[in-house]
Amino acid sequence: MARHCVFILTVLLSGPFAWAASFDSQETVRVRLVKSSRELVINGTDLSFGEGQHQVRTRGLSRWKISRKGKSWTVKSLSVSQSDVSLDSKSLRVQGSFLRDINGTLPSMLELRSASGLSFDLIASLSLRDYLIGVVAHEMPPQWPLETLKAQSVAARSYTLRTREERKSKPWHVEATIEDQVFRDPSMRADLESVRKAVRETDGILLLDPKRRTLKAFYHADCGGRTVASQSVWGGGVDTGTAIDPQCPSGPGGRWTYRIKAKDFLNRLEAGGQRLMGLESLTAGAGGRAEKFRLRLPARTVELNANELRLKVGSTQLKSTRFVMQQNGDELVFKGQGFGHGVGLCQWGSRHLGQHGLTFEKILAHYYPKALIEHRDLTASF
Ligand SMILES: [Zn+2]
Repeated sequence: MARHCVFILTVLLSGPFAWAASFDSQETVRVRLVKSSRELVINGTDLSFGEGQHQVRTRGLSRWKISRKGKSWTVKSLSVSQSDVSLDSKSLRVQGSFLRDINGTLPSMLELRSASGLSFDLIASLSLRDYLIGVVAHEMPPQWPLETLKAQSVAARSYTLRTREERKSKPWHVEATIEDQVFRDPSMRADLESVRKAVRETDGILLLDPKRRTLKAFYHADCGGRTVASQSVWGGGVDTGTAIDPQCPSGPGGRWTYRIKAKDFLNRLEAGGQRLMGLESLTAGAGGRAEKFRLRLPARTVELNANELRLKVGSTQLKSTRFVMQQNGDELVFKGQGFGHGVGLCQWGSRHLGQHGLTFEKILAHYYPKALIEHRDLTASF
């Protein structure tokens, strides 16, 4: 009998119940999936709209088109057997199973929240565990080394919890885009066993800044050889140290060239219709990254932070601020290295470290040398 009990206990601790009792599964994150939409076409099984006494429940598989009319939500049935629904409220809760819109699967608890005019935001509430799986799966290929995926999981968990704290009074904590972390619902992905394992094996582990607050653990694709302090990118933030990556860049886009017509460049900087008289780099920060630029126009001179310049021109074209620029006639040629802002963990560098047998703790210590690693257990979350 005793042996039987031990067996049951082992199954409980290693099976799905181990998930249920984890720190990550107890924490909830609100994610803004879509910004300022006018219409949502959604299908799923056993859907409900609204809450409390105003809740409308539907049975079986159905398809709906949701929009806002005046101060009401119009939930129009696209299935033969269901009736339209109209609900008055600022926000509309939608729940169900196997939810899906045009872009793919969705988490099972959604809120549509009225924004300006007739537009609305789509916000999902889900466990930190499911959120992290959906983030790590999009931040890194699942076949990367497990210790690298674990380091990424801890960085993403720390970033999320700190950001949630900063935005606790807002309707959502994080954007599902590069503004925060790219997230897609992972529920129907069958290729994420290593990502699930990385999140599970780092459950409740996070980074603290030197003042022992949860670290806003920034990370990026490819440092181009050397990471940079947040101070030189955003003029603020926590100093957790920088790292030199002798093996970077190992990413396919490590060295890049970007050409743009001066006219288009000025349009993106909201100086359209003017003539570019010059663009000079004023300061060069660590690792050859530009920090500040002076843009000369016929009637004025504008000083721009390099990161601001990068975001305005386009962060996927001007991949980093580690570049040199030449003007050839009416064309600007940027030649650079790396991808991303360069602060914190470098994903391509952490892949290299993982391939060489470093544990996730050592990878994190490399990129956040002044940070501390803490393990939150369940009792700490209540
Ligand atoms: Zn790197």
